Amino acid sequence: MRIDIMTLFPDMCRAVYSESIVGRAIQKGVLTVESVNIRDFSDNKHRNVDDTPYGGGEGMLMTAEPIYRCFMDICQKSGERPYLIYMSPKGRVLTQQRAKELAALPHITVLCGHYEGVDQRVLDALVDEEISIGDYVLTGGELPALVLTDCVARMLDGTLSSEAGRVQESHYDGLLEYPQYTKPAIWRERAVPEVLLSGHHQKIEQWRREQSLLETAAKRPELLAHAELSKRELEFLIKNGKHKEIIKK
Ligand code: SAM
Repeated sequence: MRIDIMTLFPDMCRAVYSESIVGRAIQKGVLTVESVNIRDFSDNKHRNVDDTPYGGGEGMLMTAEPIYRCFMDICQKSGERPYLIYMSPKGRVLTQQRAKELAALPHITVLCGHYEGVDQRVLDALVDEEISIGDYVLTGGELPALVLTDCVARMLDGTLSSEAGRVQESHYDGLLEYPQYTKPAIWRERAVPEVLLSGHHQKIEQWRREQSLLETAAKRPELLAHAELSKRELEFLIKNGKHKEIIKK
């Protein structure tokens, strides 16, 4: 898979995705990530890419033409038209499910806005989807684009050392992950749950699933409404006093 990030701050993006797990996935050839500087496509000698908004108002807007040219250059160099995502607080909030779907695409391009945002006309002309990383406003689209890149990269075969690492995480199957413990077995008088030391894999699996249900009911009860639960799991939640949390099911 290939991800291009259209940005005014390519070094900021590279510094993040070239490190750690995503950086190793790039080195292994699991995915390619490139940052493209929109300023290189400015149509004036000062390399300006912003201007004041028509109708007045605060701040500056990114102008349409450099973004258009930048995207056309990506299309021309790659010989295809990638799926274009604009990171925006107006977009649909990113979910694990959407990241999974995007990871199935061969090539996406991510546009990072800055200042007060982007001239609407270039968004109307080019953008396939707007994605937000949450209901708050950041100064630029770089951090959101890096969040999206990381989240999509994790969904690709070969990024994580095992498939289990991916499917056992919070949100993968609509529930939060069970609590995890590492050595020592007793830390400041707090012991690891005994079942985890038992070596009995079936019991451990059952305990983890139950803890996952309880964790979700306690911290994000609204998720239970969409999770696939068996009759036994519903009964388990009721037995543990989580009637209210599953009422919507
Ligand atoms: N004026 C815009 C508005 O009110 O919707 C906000 C512009 S924001 C200051 C600048 C840029 O940051 C946006 O163009 C977008 O690319 C990015 N951005 C800010 N918050 C975001 C969020 N929650 N999710 C995704 N992108 C965001």
